[in-house]
Amino acid sequence: MFVTHLESAIDGTHHDASKVHTMHAGRPLWVRYDLAKVKAAVKPSDLVGRENSLWRYRELLPLPAGSEPVTFGEGMSPILPCPRIGKELGLSRLSIKDESQLPTGSFKSRGMAAAVSMAKHLGLKRLAVPTAGNAGGALAAYGARAGMVVFVFMPDDTPVINQLESYLCGAKVFLVNGLINDCGKIVREGTDKLGWFDMSTLKEPYRLEGKKTMGLEIAEQGEWKLPDVILYPTGGGTGLIGMWKAFQELTTLGWLKSPKMPKLVSCQSDGCAPIVRAFEANLRFAELFPNAHTAASGLRVPMAVGDFMMLDAIRASGGWAMAGRETTIVPWMRRVASAEGIAICPETAVCFDVLDRLLREGKVNRDDEILVFNTGAAQKYLEAVKLSLPRLDKNQAIDYDALGRA
Ligand SMILES: *Cc1c(COP(=O)(O)O)cnc(C)c1O
Repeated sequence: MFVTHLESAIDGTHHDASKVHTMHAGRPLWVRYDLAKVKAAVKPSDLVGRENSLWRYRELLPLPAGSEPVTFGEGMSPILPCPRIGKELGLSRLSIKDESQLPTGSFKSRGMAAAVSMAKHLGLKRLAVPTAGNAGGALAAYGARAGMVVFVFMPDDTPVINQLESYLCGAKVFLVNGLINDCGKIVREGTDKLGWFDMSTLKEPYRLEGKKTMGLEIAEQGEWKLPDVILYPTGGGTGLIGMWKAFQELTTLGWLKSPKMPKLVSCQSDGCAPIVRAFEANLRFAELFPNAHTAASGLRVPMAVGDFMMLDAIRASGGWAMAGRETTIVPWMRRVASAEGIAICPETAVCFDVLDRLLREGKVNRDDEILVFNTGAAQKYLEAVKLSLPRLDKNQAIDYDALGRA
């Protein structure tokens, strides 16, 4: 067991990691490890023969050694080179880390694998979550696997697949006529009244640790060298914050071959960009983004408790928070999938619009190693794309000349 304590991200106070915790002073907790002890216990080459999942980093995860994880074998998603879309954009080293291949079709499974495993370890039995979509589906699946009761609250216009996957996994699913923050309020009040545990983003300490494994993986997959620039679609921020935490831990462990950190680019949609606004205004805390609206449902987070953690990480990395244009989401989804066969989610489409702008503004170099995260599967977003495909009538002669020209 390498965890030493939990540390408040806002005031640095220490908290006992053997007890159930939510937040402190309304802000998130970091999990801290005895990294000197980790360094003595394991070295990078020890990882080689381990299982091909995020649990290969067991010493840097909070679940004690004797406790069985709740798992579907999540993690170790591939990093896929993207030479064709790279060439179109004038980039020589562009890759996608494809999280759409994870259980439940999004990177949310990483966080829930860690958090549900810890909830089980700590003896919790009833879990609740407000969700913009994918977190609900992931919690429902991991909760079912752990034999727990799960309550999911989502905006009533959440993609239907997210409603379905949560429902099929036996969660008690409720649709709310509001945004994720309104759902969060219901969960908060229910926590007092019904005694469930609040699994909201960053309101318990362990989802972040699961997400951290994305940073550990890109380091290991890159043979302990990190890319120059990472583009990440940010809503609640656990992905971005978790990766940055991973890079700090790896630095302390001395596992990285170069001290140079990647520039983190937090990508949001111009329909909901509270972090971008705060970044541009040079603020440490973000303000509520009014009338949040985006087809990239994972980014529909108008207010985040980890706002300062995101902004601190982006600034420390020398990166940016930038908004992609909502109107370009579907064109980018089609363009990237057509070029590379990788079905990117709307959240990642936003990253490509941001990347295009970074290049036009000369903020990244054309020979930089650039990594874009595909955080979820395009197949989960039926409503985002309006299709009108040509129809063929089986009773009519088919005009093959016209068909060949299509
Ligand atoms: C939740 C989600 C995001 C945003 O991730 P955070 O860690 O909340 O910032 C991005 N993409 C997809 C597909 C998501 O489900």
